[in-house]
Amino acid sequence: MPKTPDIKTLHIKTFGCQMNEYDSERMAEALEGLGYALVEEAADADLVILNTCHIREKAAEKVYSELGRMRLNKERRKREGRDTLIAVAGCVAQAEGAEIMARAPAVDIVVGPQSYHRLADLVTEATTTGHGLVATEFSAEDKFAHLPQRPQGKRQVSAFVTVQEGCDKFCTFCVVPYTRGAEFSRPVSEIVAEVERLAGRGAREITLLGQNVNAYHGVGPDGRTWTLARLLRRLAQIPQIDRLRFTTSHPLDMDDELIALFGDEKKLMPYLHLPFQAGSDRILKAMNRRHTIAEYEAVIARVRAARPDIALSTDIIVGFPGETDEDFAATLALAARARFAQAFTFKYSARLGTPAASREQQVPEQVKRERLYALQSLIEDQRRAFDRAMVGRRLDVLFEGRGRKPGQIAGRSPYLQAVHVEGLEGLIGQIAAVDILAASPNSLTGVIKSGFEWHEPVQAAV
Ligand code: SF4
Repeated sequence: MPKTPDIKTLHIKTFGCQMNEYDSERMAEALEGLGYALVEEAADADLVILNTCHIREKAAEKVYSELGRMRLNKERRKREGRDTLIAVAGCVAQAEGAEIMARAPAVDIVVGPQSYHRLADLVTEATTTGHGLVATEFSAEDKFAHLPQRPQGKRQVSAFVTVQEGCDKFCTFCVVPYTRGAEFSRPVSEIVAEVERLAGRGAREITLLGQNVNAYHGVGPDGRTWTLARLLRRLAQIPQIDRLRFTTSHPLDMDDELIALFGDEKKLMPYLHLPFQAGSDRILKAMNRRHTIAEYEAVIARVRAARPDIALSTDIIVGFPGETDEDFAATLALAARARFAQAFTFKYSARLGTPAASREQQVPEQVKRERLYALQSLIEDQRRAFDRAMVGRRLDVLFEGRGRKPGQIAGRSPYLQAVHVEGLEGLIGQIAAVDILAASPNSLTGVIKSGFEWHEPVQAAV
């Protein structure tokens, strides 16, 4: 590809989880140094990055069909005299590696999640040489330490910060240990500095991210290993930060210190995402989850003892190989007992290279669909009941942006529910007490408590 010194526009299409969203933000920041600015449309972009996810069904096929569209766009732009670089990032990039280059020659760069700190160099090299580049090694280098600092100026009321990556647990259905590698925890000082920078540009809420976030074991400033609870306590000392959350956790790593924090630390929001995946011990064993149903329920009982109003969320897979009607009935029964405020439910689908993929006794698709439907109906009833129980209550809402309708602003309750009120945009970035009047299927509506005082932002002199 000829040298194109005027490359300036960047489009990132992000699939999957919040960790991918965080990675996309960091990639955009890393490319700012090369003069790239984000644009909404891939058709307008000199560099298009697909940040992929391997969790959903047929993930790789979806990426290849997306790349087919990207290739046509690249050819169109070429006819117009403009070059386009295409990069594939994320877990599909890691899993498929050079295969992507072979199947989709329009791709210029394949970059795995551990190599984002090399992205700017890869873009420069691909632009200069026209060679396809693959960077999917698990680098011993800490990518976080090599990514540029997050720039000042962009305001985000609620921000994500990845503190941990990878997983050592090897659940038999999951690709994460293969695509993100072994558990790695960022040092405390690096995380504190990043959160302080985010606070400096208006963040009031921070969600700590990790595939196994409660297994966090980063090096503290004292040279000792810090737990997630200790890290959260340190972050709670940052005055501008009012709310802390973390996701995703494993039941085995819910230690006493972390559970106690839900009762002790006001800034830790009453919301916990704790996957249980399946309701029978037999299936949990086949999944290599390393905990039993009784242990899971004991953890949530302890969490509820520390914080009785906590909103519990979970992940559940139906139709894991060998799952019988009795196993599924046990999943429904556990879901009913646990009273989840929210749950992410999935049909099992095989991931190449994972142990469960080659198991016999795969459950027929129709059975999986029926089980998923039954489970989702139960979860939906629970979610609505949880939301309805908020009507008549006064909740602190952190306003993050405009609402769906003109004159509305939207924010989140402590329990992570979307809340809409009629209000002035000057409230965005503030926390206000809201009297909840109604619960609609996807959000709550309310009115700001009378007498709430806020101050018009100081207008800059023009
Ligand atoms: S603990 Fe989570 S990330 Fe790790 S292997 Fe199991 S499902 Fe995957």
